[in-house]
Amino acid sequence: MDRRIKVVVVGFGMVGARFTEELRDRDEVATFDITVLGAESHRPYNRVLLSDLVAGRLPRSSLALPAMDRPDRAPVTVLPGVAALHVDRAKRIVRGSDGSHHRYDVLVLATGARARVPALTGLAPGDEPPAGLHVLRTLDDADAIVAAARTARAAVVVGGGVLGVEAATGLAGRGLPTTVIHPEAALMERQLDVASSHVLVRRLADAGVASLLAARPSEVVLDRGRVQGMRLADGRVVPGDLVVLSCGTLAEVGLAAAAGLPVERGIAVGGDLASPGDPRVFAIGDCAQPPEGGTGLVAQGWDQARRLAVALVAGAGADRSTPPPTPQADAGTDVVRVKGPGLDLVAMGQSAAHPHDPADRVIRLTDSDAQRLVEVVVRDGRLVGATCVGAGSVAADLTIAYTRGTPVPADPAHLLLRPVGPTAPAAGSPTNMPSSMTVCRCNGVTKGAIVACYAQGARTVADVAASTRATTGCGGCSDVVGGLVEWLRTSDPDTPLAGISQEPRPDGEQDVPPAKRDSHGVETPAA
Ligand SMILES: Cc1cc2nc3c(=O)[nH]c(=O)nc-3n(C[C@H](O)[C@H](O)[C@H](O)COP(=O)(O)OP(=O)(O)OC[C@H]3O[C@@H](n4cnc5c(N)ncnc54)[C@H](O)[C@@H]3O)c2cc1C
Repeated sequence: MDRRIKVVVVGFGMVGARFTEELRDRDEVATFDITVLGAESHRPYNRVLLSDLVAGRLPRSSLALPAMDRPDRAPVTVLPGVAALHVDRAKRIVRGSDGSHHRYDVLVLATGARARVPALTGLAPGDEPPAGLHVLRTLDDADAIVAAARTARAAVVVGGGVLGVEAATGLAGRGLPTTVIHPEAALMERQLDVASSHVLVRRLADAGVASLLAARPSEVVLDRGRVQGMRLADGRVVPGDLVVLSCGTLAEVGLAAAAGLPVERGIAVGGDLASPGDPRVFAIGDCAQPPEGGTGLVAQGWDQARRLAVALVAGAGADRSTPPPTPQADAGTDVVRVKGPGLDLVAMGQSAAHPHDPADRVIRLTDSDAQRLVEVVVRDGRLVGATCVGAGSVAADLTIAYTRGTPVPADPAHLLLRPVGPTAPAAGSPTNMPSSMTVCRCNGVTKGAIVACYAQGARTVADVAASTRATTGCGGCSDVVGGLVEWLRTSDPDTPLAGISQEPRPDGEQDVPPAKRDSHGVETPAA
């Protein structure tokens, strides 16, 4: 009799696939029998890069998620194109859309989210969308938008959040006159206030995107079943024969709700990622609502995937009716980087645009002529939020301060000023990075890990990606990883440990030791 622990994973997206890999990777003695049901028929792909696919910046092939090759581990049963239709928690059985039944000891829900479609005249709920109207959540959606963009004359994007802004710059980059319609007074209002949004509006205009703010769409204008534009509540019509609805996402909670599990905005889980309604059921990724709140970002889901795999392996020998100990959530998994040429926008944590602790200090530098803005929110001597537009190197430094939770200078204004000073060292320079610095935030890969990977024979970014997964999330670290690999290659291919050993490097450069503080509390790198 097979005594392995039966794990059924529902959802073979970015997080379900990562969890499966994390568990299999740790499962040295084939303790687990893993079955995955995935509603999409594609192999798991990098959904984060769909905006780049729409923009034509990346070929379809680069969306493949690299799989860690572990032929020494027990195979996983993957059922692509099979949706889980029903969970019988009493019998612990999942029923698939192909009629299959899967018994589980542990059920992991990784059902992700879907695009929210607002109520608009001309759109009947549940009906096929009219020709020319799209959402962007899946690879099939992206393919359909790319195909439509080939013949479209003008595009309209409804919703000026992060994805709407990315989609709009992508379509404009394809040469389509593009308008973003946004009901709020600020684009990306979760991250930006009106003044910051204004900087973004100007950057978008340079990229060929017009922004209509405080404009409420009311109707999809149709002609013989084809979209012709969007009518606003004030009667104006914004013409466009390609309309992309980018109005947020809704966690896929239907399966969990029907199974009687507690569901709010997402599938409610505790710090251990288990449902409070059933200790055998876990939820991770965009479908989950953990106590700290879901970010809708992949770094959080990948962190949950790793933590749950660790916990299941640790708890495998224990009484499985008690929840296994789940490691703490990673800090700093809510850094948003908007992808699009010329946008250069990074936002993290607390936004000054929203009510915050009255004791918070908010400091802002706005340089309208250069379309640049940096804003930081400091609480109890730590950076709890930042927004940077057009300030790449500052953004890199602030991301480090935010994710590491390092104490900020006594006068936080230095956070804005020091990195843009002409003599400040570039945080992104490989030689200036401490080994412990996280280079790939999505996967938690440090410079030290990349240097060690080089020491073990990796010589290209693809090699590094294959063994550390760096660059395989949002791709925002690709340049830095490329720079590190290039630096290691040129410094001395035969001195592979340069950068983590204490030996002098051939190029005479040194890793920067921990920063020192001056009498003002300002951090300066030690010489
Ligand atoms: C265009 C775009 C750009 C993005 N950009 C960024 C970014 O820059 N940075 C970032 O961090 N995040 C970004 N994201 C968000 C990121 O893609 C998600 O956080 C991530 O995909 C979440 O992974 P997941 O596995 O939880 O959900 P998903 O990737 O959505 O996967 C869920 C899977 O479960 C399947 N499923 C659902 N129900 C069932 C069922 N009943 N049975 C079987 N299978 C089921 C779905 O079909 C899907 O394949 C972006 C998303 C989009 C769409």
